[in-house]
Amino acid sequence: MSNTTVTKSDDVVVVGGGQAGLAIGYFLAQQGRDFTILEAAAEPAAAWRARWDSLKLFTPARYDALPGLPFPGDPDRYPTRDEVADYLTDYARHFELPVELNSRVRAVRRSGGAYVVELDDRTYEAEQVVIATGPFQTPLVPAIAEQLGDEVVQMHSTAYRSPQSVPEGLVLVVGGGNTGFQIAEELSASRVVHLSIGSRQTPLPQRLLGRDLFWYLDATGLLRKTTESRIGRRLSGRDTLIGSSPRRLRRGYAVELHGRAVSADGSTVRFDDGSELQVAGVVWATGFRVDHSWVDAPVFDHAGRVMHQRGVTGSPGLYFLGLSWQHTRGSALLGWVKDDAEHIAHEIASFRPEPATQPALATTN
Ligand SMILES: Cc1cc2nc3c(=O)[nH]c(=O)nc-3n(C[C@H](O)[C@H](O)[C@H](O)COP(=O)(O)OP(=O)(O)OC[C@H]3O[C@@H](n4cnc5c(N)ncnc54)[C@H](O)[C@@H]3O)c2cc1C
Repeated sequence: MSNTTVTKSDDVVVVGGGQAGLAIGYFLAQQGRDFTILEAAAEPAAAWRARWDSLKLFTPARYDALPGLPFPGDPDRYPTRDEVADYLTDYARHFELPVELNSRVRAVRRSGGAYVVELDDRTYEAEQVVIATGPFQTPLVPAIAEQLGDEVVQMHSTAYRSPQSVPEGLVLVVGGGNTGFQIAEELSASRVVHLSIGSRQTPLPQRLLGRDLFWYLDATGLLRKTTESRIGRRLSGRDTLIGSSPRRLRRGYAVELHGRAVSADGSTVRFDDGSELQVAGVVWATGFRVDHSWVDAPVFDHAGRVMHQRGVTGSPGLYFLGLSWQHTRGSALLGWVKDDAEHIAHEIASFRPEPATQPALATTN
């Protein structure tokens, strides 16, 4: 990539055109800045479109808006996956945000006081870069998946679309988070379903006394407790299960529960309580890891975690947005990502570049 032609120079390049990329785009447009949002996918809202067909948000519409444009329709309903995809698509269009699709960034590196952003076919140079590539990137599947025989149909939750995705017969869903519970509930209408819960999450009701859970979290200020506060630190260590519980799943949906899945052999899966099960299919709702290996800057700790203060890194002009618990519980949610986006937009506005020691990239034509 060293001989790449510089095709464009911008004040700011935003990598990722999901809700985080669009939210920062809104503020950058307000500043009248010269910027580009580079999105790997061929369509807007790619992450939402890739989720299962029947997905409904756990946040009501009143809490699903990005800055400047309300989420349409009844504010108390729980929008579908497709409504979010439509909203994000309209949002980019409404504010004429400069999103370039089919633009996967392969590398970001610092050079001569600026950043070089490399794609397969072109390169950008920018003083400032915002990485907004999402909190849920690379599907995580436990090693025991490899011990299952070929006769078992298995998939990560990102490949699950609807009950037609899995075979007839007994299906094991692995993962005790919102995704595992929702998929197990859906499958239980047409399949015998078992759910393996490795670590229990705190169940919270979706609605209480006629109000949505997020109304309480917002009104009590809990959603804005930062990772630096005592309560924020405690909350960030625990995941919550919204609108379901192991008991509800067992009683209401006849889903049988197990502990952690620890080994597999052919079509048999074994659990940490010594029990075992013959399965026809497995859905791994076992989460994700982030992959920032393509960002070449000294901003990661020994475990590969981004070192930052509310998204601002020690590498001048390099920011992250939309990380899980980046600043608060709301950081990776539709309705609250604007708070961090606005903060980073202020940082961008007050940024003073270091004098360049050498040209960032030689332009070759
Ligand atoms: C199953 C599920 C349900 C959820 N439900 C809710 C809910 O009800 N309410 C709520 O508020 N939040 C919910 N969330 C959380 C959060 O809103 C979503 O995860 C949201 O998609 C995060 O937005 P984002 O913009 O940070 O990342 P993403 O939506 O993942 O967008 C990142 C974008 O970056 C692009 N990209 C990645 N790498 C590159 C690269 N190298 N170059 C260029 N582009 C790149 C991707 O193609 C993608 O479009 C849910 C999450 C999941 C997984």
